Amino acid sequence: MACSRHAAACACPPRLRFLQFLQFLRFPVGEPAQVAELSDLKAFVDKYEKLFALTGAGCSTDSGIPDYRDAGGLWKRPPPMDFRSFMDYPLRRARYWARSMVGWRRFSAARPNAAHFGLAELERRGRVALLATQNVDGLHQAAGSLHVIDLHGRLDRVRCMECGLLRPRGELQRELEDLNPQWCNLEAADAPDGDAELEGLDFSSYAVPPCPRCGGIVKPDVVFFGENVPRTRVEATLAGLRQADAVLVVGSSLMVYSGYRYIKAAAQDGLPIAALNLGRTRADGLLSLKVEQPCAAALAWLTASGAVPPDAAAASDAAALSRS
Ligand SMILES: [Zn+2]
Repeated sequence: MACSRHAAACACPPRLRFLQFLQFLRFPVGEPAQVAELSDLKAFVDKYEKLFALTGAGCSTDSGIPDYRDAGGLWKRPPPMDFRSFMDYPLRRARYWARSMVGWRRFSAARPNAAHFGLAELERRGRVALLATQNVDGLHQAAGSLHVIDLHGRLDRVRCMECGLLRPRGELQRELEDLNPQWCNLEAADAPDGDAELEGLDFSSYAVPPCPRCGGIVKPDVVFFGENVPRTRVEATLAGLRQADAVLVVGSSLMVYSGYRYIKAAAQDGLPIAALNLGRTRADGLLSLKVEQPCAAALAWLTASGAVPPDAAAASDAAALSRS
């Protein structure tokens, strides 16, 4: 089968040539350049046996959870609340929980997508040794990944800032809804991290329950801006990175230092780094390979059995049936 980009005797691998052939037949496998990028990514994943995966918001956008930044790495919306604002201003805290109460319904219903399942599959095949995520949605674990570090915590838990009591977020949700029935039927656009857009409302009447054990301030068990990632979590992540032979970034612009620091450390140690991300990343200059494609489609392609990505396989079957 001749390669559609080069001479018949070119060195493109058979898999790529087959995909180019499907492209020539107008099957939906993307532009040849995209297919070539994916083949490079597949070669990267095949080459290294102990990948350290670092994931971000781009991994969860196909699950209906919005991200913060545009393709240029700039904020799409006002930056999220910072730690001191939450702790020091009761009205801002009320605003946070009112928005969170509305956003939680959809956030808690989100399900893993092909990006999460693909990474879980790479772990199952023994390629991904550790996955560190900047996401707080728990969708990697829901997809079956076992070795996950939630760098920024989990939104499905709440923590008392006085006594440390940890509780399920769902329990607090019921208390918030019981205390604020007039806020329950509000509809609002989703925002990142289980937040929702609620503007122009008076939050002074919104009631936030204190810790049931000590009366302290209850906060989602996530790392806010202006707050440090716990030291033990950073050390566990660095230990995992030291055992890896390469790094795969999925769906992160790496604009936040708490994720970028690991890529910087990996580059200093001479590890090859690949990134699958739509748009610019802070680490573009450190990458061995950059693939600018949607995470879910790319990972589905990467882990699909055989040489044909699922879409192309379905189209191929349909074409075969129509000819028979
Ligand atoms: Zn407490």
